This record gives sequence, C-alpha cells and structure tokens, in this order.
Amino acid sequence: MKHLAYLACCVSVVACSSGGSVPPQPTQSSSAAGSDLRRSVHWMRNSAEFEAIVLQTYSLAGQELRKSVEGKAPGTWAVALDADETLISNMDYEKELVRLGQDSTDELWMAWVARREASPLPGALQFLDLVQELGGRIAVVTNRRDRDCPDTRANLETIRVPFDVLLCRADDREKEPRWESIQKGTAAPDLSPVEIVMWLGDNINDFPDMGQESRFSSPEAFGDFGSRFFIFPNPSYGSWEANPFD
Ligand SMILES: [Mg+2]
Repeated sequence: MKHLAYLACCVSVVACSSGGSVPPQPTQSSSAAGSDLRRSVHWMRNSAEFEAIVLQTYSLAGQELRKSVEGKAPGTWAVALDADETLISNMDYEKELVRLGQDSTDELWMAWVARREASPLPGALQFLDLVQELGGRIAVVTNRRDRDCPDTRANLETIRVPFDVLLCRADDREKEPRWESIQKGTAAPDLSPVEIVMWLGDNINDFPDMGQESRFSSPEAFGDFGSRFFIFPNPSYGSWEANPFD
C-alpha cells in the first residue's frame, strides 16, 4: 500500500523505485494494509516515542551543527532539509486516509496541500532558529511537485518555518541537481554559493550518495549519520516500501 507515495509523486512501487512520476491511481485498501497504516499513523501522531526521537534528532543535529560551522563566515553555508515528515507533518492527512479507508490519490493529495495545514515537527522551528543564529542559510528541497510549491510556500510561511530557498521538483526526483544548484548559487537569484554542511530527511534518498541499496554496503556507508546526516523515522511511507518483504 503506497500512502502519500512520497507525497503525491507516485503510488506504484515501480514508479517510485524507478524515479518515475506516474500519477497516483485510486486503489482499494486491503484491511491488512489499512491496519498497517493505522498503526503507523497512530505511532507518529500519538506516541511519546516518536516525539522523543524527533526532538532527539533535532537536538543532536543542532549540537553537531554548532561544531561543524565553527569558524565559518555567516552566509557561506547552508543546511538542506526535506519537507514532508522532516520539517512538516502530514499525519492529519494520513489520519483522514485511514478514516476513509483508502489510499492517497492525486486528487486527495492536492486538496490536502491546498489546505496548507501541514504542521511543524517537534523541534524543527527551534533548529531552524539555531541555523539562522549561527549564520546559516536554510534550503528546503522537497519532492512535492512544482505545482504544489505555491501552497507549500504559503503553508511554511503560515507556520513560521523560515527558509532562504524552497525547491520543489519538476520531473527529476533526484535531489542531487538541486543540492548542486544551491552550492553553486544558481538555485535562486538572491542566493549566493554556499556550502551545504548538513542534510536532514526522513527518506534515505534525502541524503547524497545514499539509497536503499546502501544497506547492502558496509556500516561505514552510513558513517555520516549523526554528524552531517540526520534522519527521522517514517513507518507510514517511503522508498523502503519498494524493497521485497524478506
Ligand atoms: Mg520526506
């Protein structure tokens, strides 16, 4: 069951794993899959454990950031953050899906985005305040589509998420070119070249040179997590869903 399907990009496993952009198709949930989603959403909405992990992650990211930017001139560096389930939560939407007993569709997703009701994750705003206090730029790189960008921007502004640049996606799901444009200073007219010193996300693809295949590598492949990379738990959806059940 593909919920949100990386948030309105695709629903099928094939489309997600191939980086395609097949519009979501309505599907009928099986009761077992629906139960899985219900438990995931319940955990992300209502557990102290989820809140603790998210706060812990932002706190550790802040501590590491202080160390890593020591001596760097203000305005010369940035942090790159994913949006959904990293900065903002769509669990109200997922809860509605559970209540409706159906998968995410393009239509439902677009209606949710237009409501601009995604909320900040615990600790996110404090972390972003710290980034600004230390002199960093904030780059939000999301695979929400370009068509969703105006509502996403308005949503972020409404909940007072500060950012210097917001990059949605056109066709390419890969975030690498967008990170490069930030580093080169071509991402926005008023953004000069900056060094990205930290990445935060809930999907392994939110991090350079990482992917689901990384789990077949040595543990060293994950060596940047806890220092330059910080990941948030998301049992509701993600690229992991394409992996075989083994
Ligand atoms: Mg995400």
